[in-house]
Amino acid sequence: MAQARSGLVGELYLRLLIVEDERDLRSALETTFREEGYAVDSAADGEQGLFKAEGNEYDAIVLDLMLPKLDGRQLLERLRKTKKTPVLILSARDTVPDRVRGLDTGADDYLVKPFERIELLARVRALIRRAAGAASAKIELGDIVLNTALRTISRAGAPIHVTPREYALVEFLALHRGEIVTRTMLYEHLFDEGEDNLSNLLDVHVSNLRKKFGKDFVVTRRGQGYLIDV
Ligand code: CA
Repeated sequence: MAQARSGLVGELYLRLLIVEDERDLRSALETTFREEGYAVDSAADGEQGLFKAEGNEYDAIVLDLMLPKLDGRQLLERLRKTKKTPVLILSARDTVPDRVRGLDTGADDYLVKPFERIELLARVRALIRRAAGAASAKIELGDIVLNTALRTISRAGAPIHVTPREYALVEFLALHRGEIVTRTMLYEHLFDEGEDNLSNLLDVHVSNLRKKFGKDFVVTRRGQGYLIDV
């Protein structure tokens, strides 16, 4: 979104940027995060990474250090002049001075390759939570409870199965509860640039959520958007 946002509003953008030049790793990272319901954009070199990082609102950026054209540290230095997007550095370097330099440049966390998928996911979730200032991992909507750490939803204590994308949609609406969320906001924050038929996809997800949580769970404001008003 182009307009300024503050407070809780809009701070849970579930969209990531991955900047990694090794094709196999980049593709594995994209798959990993997409499976968790994130919208993922990626860049194969530092210049492209900086261009995307400056031009979009990401929840977090996963940044390799050794990159062609512009290395990760230079990218970060330039990005920090305009944006505070949380950045997790991925690096093969694992000496203490390297970590310190990475953090001094404005990185928010540092993970050394090779790493476990589960640790990467946990660290990115933690970055996003910290950036959103959310101390609690739970969002309560009446008897429906979202666990933002586990990305699960339960109703009156019983788990309700949702796909990662459905979860992301509920969480976004929940963090904006009581406000109308436009379809454009949803496209922008829940889907990545490679996906077509967004309009269709969104309708399908909303319809599935109503089947699972009741038809009034997500309210449609015709011509305006959706809201959760529990
Ligand atoms: Ca590299």
